[in-house]
Amino acid sequence: MIDFELTGKLKSQQQMMRGFAEQAMRPLARKYDEEEHEKPTELLKMVQGFMKGGVGGSMGGGGEKKKKEEGGEKKRSEANLTTAIAVEETFYGDAGIALAFPGQGLGGAAVQATGTPEQKAEFLARFSEDEPVWGAMAITEPEAGSDTANIRTTAVKDGDEWVLNGEKIFVTSGKSALEDSKGFVVVWATVDPKAGRAGIKPFIVEYGTPGMQITKVEDKLGIRCSDTVSLSFMDCRIPEKNILGSAEVVDPKKASTKGFKGVMATFDATRPLVAMMAIGVGRAALDELKRIMAEEGLEIRYAISPGRMTAIERDIMDMEANLKAARLLTYRSIWMLDNGERNSLEASMAKAKAGLAVTHITQKCVELMGPLGYSREMLFEKWMRDAKINDIFEGTGQIQMLVTARNVLGFGRDKLK
Ligand SMILES: Cc1cc2nc3c(=O)[nH]c(=O)nc-3n(C[C@H](O)[C@H](O)[C@H](O)COP(=O)(O)OP(=O)(O)OC[C@H]3O[C@@H](n4cnc5c(N)ncnc54)[C@H](O)[C@@H]3O)c2cc1C
Repeated sequence: MIDFELTGKLKSQQQMMRGFAEQAMRPLARKYDEEEHEKPTELLKMVQGFMKGGVGGSMGGGGEKKKKEEGGEKKRSEANLTTAIAVEETFYGDAGIALAFPGQGLGGAAVQATGTPEQKAEFLARFSEDEPVWGAMAITEPEAGSDTANIRTTAVKDGDEWVLNGEKIFVTSGKSALEDSKGFVVVWATVDPKAGRAGIKPFIVEYGTPGMQITKVEDKLGIRCSDTVSLSFMDCRIPEKNILGSAEVVDPKKASTKGFKGVMATFDATRPLVAMMAIGVGRAALDELKRIMAEEGLEIRYAISPGRMTAIERDIMDMEANLKAARLLTYRSIWMLDNGERNSLEASMAKAKAGLAVTHITQKCVELMGPLGYSREMLFEKWMRDAKINDIFEGTGQIQMLVTARNVLGFGRDKLK
């Protein structure tokens, strides 16, 4: 049975994270927006404390799957839900700062989705150590964004090493991962360009590996505390064992895309978390708008007929409904993940809905606040800037709708492009 009521334990963790978000993160939101890429060092110790206490779960990208049957009973997990709750609350505090906390990120999620048990033990264990560790993932290239199958970065076997050559762009936390002695980037590259999707495999490239270089640090619209970089790989040699999963390329004519499925499995785990990020930002803007409206004496009359409502009441109810719908869709996709069920459709639906909802809500809040919404005196303009990324990374809104349509209609990639 699906039950979206949080357990007592999760509710108290949520309360704790909310307090941290409101009292410790929110007051620093403007400072770290303006000091782009500076690390929120004064908050890191507290965050580490939460994570060790199990509050954050695998904050910053979990993707834990529990689907083993024990004595006929399906074993349930709350690992992803715990992470999701922490994500919503920290993004409620501040999106940029939340993304600048160390953690698994997409890199850890990719290991979780594609690694062998030994690789998971080796690389994921780093995230439970005392010192904060960074993981990042590089798929996007100048010619491969939404169309991830177009990846041109190559990995060629040479003795007991892989040699990587190519360019990656827009890597979240790439700088942090490469400045961290235990950090790593999961790089997707093709071992056989002729094999199409089947040739694309994930590789772990560790901090300090010669041949990997940061070529650009982005100056961004929003989430400015988080670093986003371009990376170049020039004869970058990594150990043979750093390929995640199998190196086997199955004949593309048999339509098997085993390695590439890892990209999708990674996204199935992380798209619901991006949806939760969006929901956190949307809730921050909406709560603040309602607080100010209440101070001004505006009462939202939920029980009156639509014909008698003011435009502002209608707008606020519409935003609340959208946020709630996005959260319920997202909880469902996370519930499926925690119960070992395939959630590709639900993960895309949740991300599409939450991305749209948060861009709409934050813009509407700027509009309703008038000039104060546009001013840097308040955080509304920042929330609007921070919101947009949720509709871009890990698959744009349009791509989520395409995935949803393909799933619902039963069409393959060839039929619905
Ligand atoms: C701040 C930031 C952080 C990022 N972090 C990471 C990261 O950590 N790792 C990583 O690998 N990448 C990352 N990305 C890259 C991000 O995932 C891509 O930008 C995104 O997937 C879109 O790809 P693209 O930029 O090539 O756009 P394009 O694919 O060129 O798309 C351009 C526009 O066309 C639309 N479009 C494309 N194809 C279709 C279609 N078939 N139907 C309808 N519309 C379509 C898109 O929705 C979009 O609006 C990040 C990007 C940003 C901005």
